[in-house]
Amino acid sequence: MDTVMTVLPLVFEAPRRTKPPRHLADLTRAEARAAVVELGQPAFRADQLARHFYAGVTDPEQMTDLPAASRAELTEALLPGLLTPVRHQSADGGRTRKTLWRLHDGALVESVLMRYPERATVCISSQAGCGMACPFCATGQSGLTRNLSAAEIIGQAVAAAAAMANGEIPGGPGRLSNVVFMGMGEPLANYARVRKTLDALLTPAPHGLGLAQRSVTVSTVGVVPAIRKLTEEGLNVTLAVSLHAPDDELRDELVPINTRWKVDEVLGAADDFARRTGRRYSIEYALIRDINDQPFRADLLGKLLAKRLAHVNLIPLNPTPGSKWDASPLPAQREFVARLRAAGVPTTVRDTRGSDIDGACGQLAAADQVDGVPSVAVPVPTVEDAVPLGAESDQD
Ligand code: SAH
Repeated sequence: MDTVMTVLPLVFEAPRRTKPPRHLADLTRAEARAAVVELGQPAFRADQLARHFYAGVTDPEQMTDLPAASRAELTEALLPGLLTPVRHQSADGGRTRKTLWRLHDGALVESVLMRYPERATVCISSQAGCGMACPFCATGQSGLTRNLSAAEIIGQAVAAAAAMANGEIPGGPGRLSNVVFMGMGEPLANYARVRKTLDALLTPAPHGLGLAQRSVTVSTVGVVPAIRKLTEEGLNVTLAVSLHAPDDELRDELVPINTRWKVDEVLGAADDFARRTGRRYSIEYALIRDINDQPFRADLLGKLLAKRLAHVNLIPLNPTPGSKWDASPLPAQREFVARLRAAGVPTTVRDTRGSDIDGACGQLAAADQVDGVPSVAVPVPTVEDAVPLGAESDQD
């Protein structure tokens, strides 16, 4: 293969920067209670603050159950604003909304809220940038700026839940039902913070967002020890593995972490996860024209997955600026799907929500946008129109 763009090194250790200010969402409940006691307040104020935070209340004046004289002090001490919206971009009649957030140190991340008739999904970022260096991914090409704190990750989901509850998205007030870690970053390279985030997403209100475990999807390039750790935690969240190639030779190039953990090891770890949860994991596969979309690779993938508790989610490549690569043409996509299904592997093609605002998978590259470079509208095939496959954009 001679079409790889910039070859970047794999980066696991995030650069250390100044920490974001202390936030309630980074603390355990006991720590939060101790923190308010230190401020001379009764411990239960921590619970009141938590209720406001997870309900998306940010204005201290609305926290009328707190004494007026201490609202400002308490919110400054435990609910500092960590995510400043720089801009929203909408698509699909407003039902897809991408938000660019500025963090305390100027780092930028994006999240994308997608409303469907039956659910609302937010795609959140776990790192500013990404160190995994996948050559077809805009974020991967931007390198790793830093890990996000738990409160910075949780805040994206809380903001999405509030946007739904407040009726900011067309369709009337609704509920955030799903979270996918498919924004910027490799969630399993920021394990401790992502673990804390999972707790906050799954804990019932008022101490969390109360999402169902299966409605939360952790997507990974295949950090095998972290998949194993997640398995031991006993969480029944949904696991997605970004495979993109069935053979080590090609995967070494498309997903450079493969040089460390091979296809067999990654699938072995995912199998163990599925055995523990009793549910299928998802294989993400971006179809790239003439790179990984050949019929023989479909057959290889089918053979690899036929006896596994896996489901394939094909994503027609969203071309990133400067990339020589393109999405597979529709006939190749159809052939690929047919071969996987013939092998007995459940297969869907993902829709392309948000591609016209660069909000689709692999297009999040906030760094470009502050420099004043306008986002590029990339035409992508509307697979759900052309292929009668029951397109879906994330796993339920
Ligand atoms: N680091 C994690 C999560 C972020 S990316 C992971 O890799 O799984 C979410 C998904 O989008 C991954 O499956 C990723 O491989 C895919 N993706 C990245 N760039 C893409 C692109 N240009 N077109 C289509 N999918 C892409």
